[in-house]
Amino acid sequence: MYSWDEDTSKWYGDAKYAYAPAAAPARAASAARAAASGPRTYEKKAGPNEKIIDPKQRISTESKNPVIVAIDVTGSMASWPFEIFDRLPLMYNTLSQYRPDVAISFAAIGDAKVDRWPLQVTPFASGFDLEQLLGSLYGEGGGGDAPESYGLFARWVNTHVTIPSTDDVPFLIVFGDINMHATMDSKQVSHYLGDSAWGNVDAIDEWQKVTQKWNTWFLRRPGGKRGDVVDKQWGDAIGEQKIFHIEDEQRAVDYAMGLIARSWGYFGDFQDNMRARQDESKVKQVSKPIAMICPRCGAPIPVDAGGMFKCKFCGTTLKL
Ligand SMILES: [Zn+2]
Repeated sequence: MYSWDEDTSKWYGDAKYAYAPAAAPARAASAARAAASGPRTYEKKAGPNEKIIDPKQRISTESKNPVIVAIDVTGSMASWPFEIFDRLPLMYNTLSQYRPDVAISFAAIGDAKVDRWPLQVTPFASGFDLEQLLGSLYGEGGGGDAPESYGLFARWVNTHVTIPSTDDVPFLIVFGDINMHATMDSKQVSHYLGDSAWGNVDAIDEWQKVTQKWNTWFLRRPGGKRGDVVDKQWGDAIGEQKIFHIEDEQRAVDYAMGLIARSWGYFGDFQDNMRARQDESKVKQVSKPIAMICPRCGAPIPVDAGGMFKCKFCGTTLKL
């Protein structure tokens, strides 16, 4: 269990890691609030906190570095919300060293055909506030192998999220394992999002729109076959190079942090951070597929690239 404070001595790895001093006061404030609220738990409950997670809400942030993290919480995915909850302080404390104003919004995605809460979303927040928000989500565990309502989430992002103009395209990361319902009828959209929509809403269209504003990644759970129907549909939705096949399910959050750190020019620090938690072979296993691709467009990067590197596919300049 990772904590909100500065103490990294209980991390599992041998290497030492110290958080950057600049964000120390913010970490201290979060740590004090965490201590006051008692032990961290992701306890079983009967449902989400509906006031907090209502997908009719419109959210906005002044942060120039907003990040949206969406998790498929159906059936087989049920343990991922916990994994992410466990690593949340680590994720926030790590990313906020690189860009102190980072603000995160969470979403839990289910299946509108079987779930009572097929889309749960939270406002953007920072520090310990994230803990309460993530704790408001509920893993319903319905659905299973059927298509899920990822398209409803995409529609919500397009119609309910406002962010300032940013220097680079902000990250939106989806942890999932399956394809989506290709269309949503207007009744479903207005029921869950409070929008009036005319006729069917096309899920792929909505995702293509999301990618114009967000650096969108589908982090796919291990088990799927490359190039299968799931990959094909997500390829149509966000571009096939933006599908990232996770090799180690336990490291799901590290893949997301690694991609962001790579894009923001802190990949070396991210690896040091991971070395303090994992052995070297694991650091290499997670780093390798991240280092091989452009964190903006997913195109391959030459293995010998270094220093300031300009991606010839999307034009993004990276500090490698
Ligand atoms: Zn690129």
